[in-house]
Amino acid sequence: MQTHRIIDGKAIAAQVREGVAKEVALMKSAHGFLPGLAVVLVGEDPASKVYVKNKGEQTKASGMNSWEHKLPAETSEAEVLAIVQKLNDDPAVNGILVQLPLPKHINAEKVLNTIHPDKDVDGFHPVNVGRLWVGERTLVPCTPTGSVILAKSVQPNLSGLNAVVIGRSNIVGKPVSALLLRENCTVTIAHSKTRNIHNVVKGADLVIAAVGIPEMVRGDWIKPGAIVIDVGINRVPGEAGKTKLVGDVNYEECARVASAITPVPGGVGPMTIACLLKNTVEAAKIQRGIKD
Ligand code: NDP
Repeated sequence: MQTHRIIDGKAIAAQVREGVAKEVALMKSAHGFLPGLAVVLVGEDPASKVYVKNKGEQTKASGMNSWEHKLPAETSEAEVLAIVQKLNDDPAVNGILVQLPLPKHINAEKVLNTIHPDKDVDGFHPVNVGRLWVGERTLVPCTPTGSVILAKSVQPNLSGLNAVVIGRSNIVGKPVSALLLRENCTVTIAHSKTRNIHNVVKGADLVIAAVGIPEMVRGDWIKPGAIVIDVGINRVPGEAGKTKLVGDVNYEECARVASAITPVPGGVGPMTIACLLKNTVEAAKIQRGIKD
C-alpha cells in the first residue's frame, strides 16, 4: 500500500499559472496595462532554445506580452549589454531574462548585473539577493520559490521544521535556504565538504536536494515521515540505449520512508517557468508601486 504522497508539480504549476493569468487580467482591467517579459538568447544551444520557446509560449498563454531577442553566437558582449540597457529603459518591459549559458566570450556576471534589479525576474542580481536575506520585498529565484510552494502544498505551515538543504549554489541552495528561514524553519545547508551528510539529512523534517549527483540521497538517509523535494535534473543511461531523467534523490527508496516526495520529472521542474511568470507580474507591481 502506498503511504507517501506524490507531490504533483505539473498540477501545482498549472494552479500557479492560473493565478498569474487572473492577476494579468486584473492588471489590464484595474491598471490599464499588460505585464511583459523579454527573453534574450545568444547562440544556438539546443536546450536553451527549447527553454526560451517554452517560456515565450507560457508567457503568452498567461495573457502577458512576450518578446524574444535571438542573437547569433558571435554577438559581442557590448551588443548584449546594449540590448539589456535598452530593455531596462523600456517601460513596457517588466521582466528581463538572459538565458544561460552565454557564449564563453561574454561575461555572464556582467550581463546579469546590468539588468535593473526591479526587472531581474531570475532574482540573481546582488541587490535582489541582499533584499531576500534582509527580508525586503524582492524578486526571488524561480526554482527555490517553486520548491517552497511544493513543500507548502503538503504542509502549509513550515514553521519550526528542521530543514536540510543539500547544495549551496547561488541559483538554488542559498536562495531556498533564505526562503525556508523566512518560513521559520531551522535551516541546515549541507554541501560537498559536509561530514557524515547522511546523519545530517536524517535529522530533517524537510529535505531539499539540489546537488546534481544522480540519486545521491538514499532511503536510509531519510527520517520517517519527512517531506522530500528533489530539485535535481540528471540525464542518465536508460533502457534500449536511451537516456532518462532522474533526480538527486533515489525516488524508490526515499518514497518508502517519506510522507511526501516530488518525482523527477514532474516535480520541481514545471514550477520554474510558472514562478518566472509570477515574478514578471511581481516585477510589474514593484515598478508601478502596486501593493499585494
Ligand atoms: P551547482 O553545481 O551549482 O551546485 C551543486 C551544489 O551541490 C554545490 O553547492 C556543491 O557543494 C553541492 N555538492 C556537490 N557534491 C556534493 C556532495 N557529494 N555532497 C553534498 N553536496 C554536494 O548546481 P545547481 O544548484 O545549479 O543545481 C543542482 C541540481 O538542481 C542540478 O541537478 C540541476 O540540474 C538542478 N536544477 C534544477 C532546476 C529546475 O528547474 N528543476 C533549476 C536549477 C537546477 P560545494 O558548494 O561544496 O561545491
